[in-house]
This record gives sequence, C-alpha cells and structure tokens, in this order.
Amino acid sequence: MAENLNLFTSTQNVIKEALTKLGYTEEMYELLKEPLRMFTVRIPVRMDDGSTKVFTGYRAQHNDAAGPTKGGVRFHPEVNEEEVKALSMWMTLKAGIVDLPYGGGKGGIVCDPRQMSMGEVERLSRGYVRAISQIVGPSKDIPAPDVYTNSQIMAWMVDEYSHIREFDSPAFITGKPLVLGGSHGREKATAQGVTICIHEAAKKRGIDIKGARVVIQGFGNAGSFLAKFMHDAGAKVIGISDAYGGLHDPEGLDIDYLLDRRDSFGTITTLFENTITNQELLELDCDILVPAAISNQITEENADNIKASIVVEAANGPTTLEATKILADRGVLLVPDVLASSGGVTVSYFEWVQNNQGYYWTEEEVNAKLHTALVKAFDNIYETAQTRGVNMRLAAYMVGVRKTAEASKFRGWV
Ligand code: NAD
Repeated sequence: MAENLNLFTSTQNVIKEALTKLGYTEEMYELLKEPLRMFTVRIPVRMDDGSTKVFTGYRAQHNDAAGPTKGGVRFHPEVNEEEVKALSMWMTLKAGIVDLPYGGGKGGIVCDPRQMSMGEVERLSRGYVRAISQIVGPSKDIPAPDVYTNSQIMAWMVDEYSHIREFDSPAFITGKPLVLGGSHGREKATAQGVTICIHEAAKKRGIDIKGARVVIQGFGNAGSFLAKFMHDAGAKVIGISDAYGGLHDPEGLDIDYLLDRRDSFGTITTLFENTITNQELLELDCDILVPAAISNQITEENADNIKASIVVEAANGPTTLEATKILADRGVLLVPDVLASSGGVTVSYFEWVQNNQGYYWTEEEVNAKLHTALVKAFDNIYETAQTRGVNMRLAAYMVGVRKTAEASKFRGWV
C-alpha cells in the first residue's frame, strides 16, 4: 500500500517537475495531478459453489482532452484506488510519448484469478463490463489486458459489451484474439518495443548488439520474448532471473532451451542448482541491464553497484527516483519505463485503428509501424534530455505530458 502511495505521489512529483520545465502554470498541474474521473463499482458474482461474492472494481480516466482514454484492466488481490489512478496517469504519458490520439485510463478488480475457476473469471469479467458500460466505449475509453488478464478475458468483455450495445463493437477493447479482431504482433509488442529501445540506446553508446552482454531480470511475457529477440540479434544473454533466483553464464545462456522449459508463470530457475540471487543478478558485469519483473529493484542501496552502461526499464517502476539520479550522475543511459514499455499500447492503438477501418494488417506491417513510432519517440526524448539538460525520465515525462496539456489548453480547460 505504501508502495502504491509512493507510486502515485512520485508520478505526481515528476509530472509537476515536467510541467514546470515546460513553462505551464500551477493550474495545469492542478488539472493533471489526478484523474478527471474515478469510478468504483461493486460486482456480484455467482461462484461455482452457489454462493455470491461481491468484488470491487475501478476505472480511472485521467484526461480525455487529446482523445478517448485508454489503458488495461488488472485482476490482482492488491489492486487499489491509488495504484489504478497512478497507472492511468502513466498511460497519458505513454500515449503522449508515442503521439497516440489518446489520454490515459486504467482499470482493476480486487480479486485473485489464480484461485478462481474459468467460469467464475468469465462471470466477473462480464459483470465488470456491465458495471462500467456507460463510461466506456470505442470513442470514450478503451480497455486492454494487464496483469492477470489475457485475450480470453478481452473476448468475454467485448462479447458482453456488444450484447449491451446490440451491435458488434470490436473497437471497444484491445488485446483480443485474432479471430475477434485482434492485431498481429500484439502479444510480443512490449518486448518488441523494449528491443527497439535497446537498439537505439546501444547506437547512442556505440555498443554493437552483436556480442553485447545482456542481463534480464524476469522471464515472463516481457522478459522471455525479449531474451529471444536479443539472442536472435546476436547479443549474449548472460543472466536471466525469476522470482526464485537467477542464472548466470558469462559465455551466454542457452535461451532456446530455457524458453522451452519455463512454465506459464515465467519460472525457470527452480530447475537448476547453481543459481544466484536477484540482487547479484542486477550487479553483474554486463553492457545492458533490463529489469523486466517488478518495481523498486534499483534503489539508493545498489545503484552505485550497477555495472551496465545502459539500463532499459521493461518493468513498471523498477528504478526509484533517487536511483535514477545516481545512475544519471554516473553517466548510465537509462531508458525509462514510460518509453521502453510503450510498445504494448502502441500496437493496441494499431488494433483499434484496424477495428475502426475494418481492414487488417500483416505482422510485418504492424512491426514496421511500431519500429517507426518508437524510434521517433526515443529520438524525441533523447534530444529533449540533451537540449534541456535533464535525465531521460524527466525528458520522457516532458514529452509525454505535453500533448494532453496542449489539448487541454486548446479546449479552454486551463
Ligand atoms: P509476468 O507475470 O509474465 O512475468 C513476471 C516475471 O517476473 C516472472 O518471470 C516472475 O518469476 C518474475 N518475478 C516475479 N517476482 C519477482 C521478484 N520478486 N524478483 C524477480 N523476479 C520476479 O509479467 P510480464 O507481463 O512479463 O511483466 C513484467 C513487467 O513488465 C511488469 O512490471 C509489467 O508491469 C511490465 N509490463 C509488461 C507489459 C506486457 O505487455 N507484458 C507491458 C508493459 C509493462
């Protein structure tokens, strides 16, 4: 809980700093410091044993000046209002960074889907859509998957929404299965985006990806696809980890073997005896470090021991603000989460565009468009950091917040 409060207040602090640097007034900060709308719902669900359980859900809409709000729905026991609010603000930043015609939104339900049957999860998903149906829609607020939600859950949700509206509405939600209007490339989009950022950062630092030593914390959806992309690009992935520990081989790990053996929760190290701790993993001698697991991993305590010259944040919030400063002072190039993990929302946007026009693209087209969008975003933020003399995180917030701030100004809201 304290961590979430911290996430919310630290997001507010950086937004304030970014707006001040950009020359906006205090009134603009007052508008953007929290979501315009925060909706709390109670969802009764008939459980398999015949009892009724009432779940709490949220939907936050940070700001819709630049377009409909957009953001995932998280199913997790620790979901809470502060976290949903902070994450909706991050979505505004990501949309601004990649220049998508959206504002930020986010949703969540306090539940543990790992303890529920498929039928219970389906009834909960449909109940959530009924509860929020009035405030969402293809040109209002567009949900997507997030932690513990997937394309099957998106399918139930779009089905429920289409029933309520009485016409097929694929553009109501993204992250759908391909047969229901999903986009090619969506599943791997986050890791693709991280990969593009790594390539751009390596160019800036004169590091050749072929033979570069890469360490990845986390071997789930983001970390495992990323390990594969790096391996295929000729990099040496010398360290990976999961919740139980890490694996290290200075000569490079056998990524294909590890991918083959990992379980669906991203666990792999339990199959090995010679493991290292996650703390040791982060401090390994390497060129590129990618935290792709959980938040608050690089802190004041260990920032001085990080040996990588490039840190690319695939996870949300893996580096504290104090550690960000230490790394910047040490000359480490840090590619912040709001930029590095924006591949997912970018391909979600492509999915929504395809649904709206009813014309579908190949995976090559999606990947080419993603590449163009992220290289442009990276360059924009890198240039901003250089010309304004700020670190990459503050530069990303400056680029990210500007679109919504300008749109709010033109609309006469501030
Ligand atoms: P996931 O659940 O698929 O995998 C998480 C991985 O982290 C697993 O390997 C797990 O074992 C490991 N892990 C869990 N706790 C750990 C700990 N205490 N120490 C070390 N490792 C630990 O999750 P994911 O989808 O790969 O997401 C990873 C991060 O990337 C999250 O911060 C997520 O918010 C962020 N992210 C993911 C996406 C996406 O599309 N998947 C998009 C944007 C951001």
